[in-house]
Amino acid sequence: MRCAGCGYELWNMAPGRCPECGRGWTHRDFHYLPGRVRFLCPHCEHAYAGLGPEGRPVPESFDCRACGNHVTLDTMRALPAPGLGTDQVMGNIHPWVDRARIGRWRAFWRTLKASLTGPRELARAQPADARVRDALAFSAWASAITLTVPLACIGFNVIPMLLAAPGATLSSWETMVMLGGALGWIAIRPLLALVQSAVAHVVLRAGGPVHGGWNVTACACLYGMGPVVADSIPCVACISPLGSIWSIVSSIVQLSAAQRVSGGRSALAVLLLPALSIAVGGAIMLWTYRAQLAGP
Ligand SMILES: [Zn+2]
Ligand SMILES: [Zn+2]
Repeated sequence: MRCAGCGYELWNMAPGRCPECGRGWTHRDFHYLPGRVRFLCPHCEHAYAGLGPEGRPVPESFDCRACGNHVTLDTMRALPAPGLGTDQVMGNIHPWVDRARIGRWRAFWRTLKASLTGPRELARAQPADARVRDALAFSAWASAITLTVPLACIGFNVIPMLLAAPGATLSSWETMVMLGGALGWIAIRPLLALVQSAVAHVVLRAGGPVHGGWNVTACACLYGMGPVVADSIPCVACISPLGSIWSIVSSIVQLSAAQRVSGGRSALAVLLLPALSIAVGGAIMLWTYRAQLAGP
């Protein structure tokens, strides 16, 4: 349970302002696992279990059973239940941010699953100081997965050549072009998502207040890239851009949750750049077509 602004540990403190950075916080900013956190009466320290759906006490305003004083949630300090560590009582830890503890492999698949099926929860778990390079690494891995089928096909042809003449195959220009193409393919989507997030953030700021900085917008767009892995399923990728569309939806939902803005504002921010690109592309095609008609 850490301050979203600076990471200061907030256990056993009354809600209010973070002593380190001054950022305001309440128990509603956190998602505790039900029954795993106890809340202390500010007058007599009698402990109440947080049994509500978000792990907070129900009701949130009552008279203390032990001392009779009136107590509200906003005056209570929270502590993990005896014998439990922080990671056992908090429900909203971002798996990719927490990858050092749970392991990179497991963290990647958990983040991917959340991006596909629970983007809102994933974005809520995103810290305010989320690092863009973490999100870039995740999106690059997701992008790399879309190459598995093409790479498997290429490998099927290349492996016999590699076994016959390893030196010549590795140094041939075809191999270089293929490697370059693969790296370019992996990098292009995360880079486009970064550009998209810059436009999205300007649009959001123009439309009213937002909760966090550009890093929050960029992370929402980049962690929204999980569904592009659907593009690695051969038939699906050929007949429809399912992964890309799903990814845009995931980004919109994550941006709305992370920046605390309406779905409409978030959709406008995320879709503006793709819509402009399509409009400009269409205009250029139309112009070329008309120029050809008018020509000799
Ligand atoms: Zn702080
Ligand atoms: Zn009390």
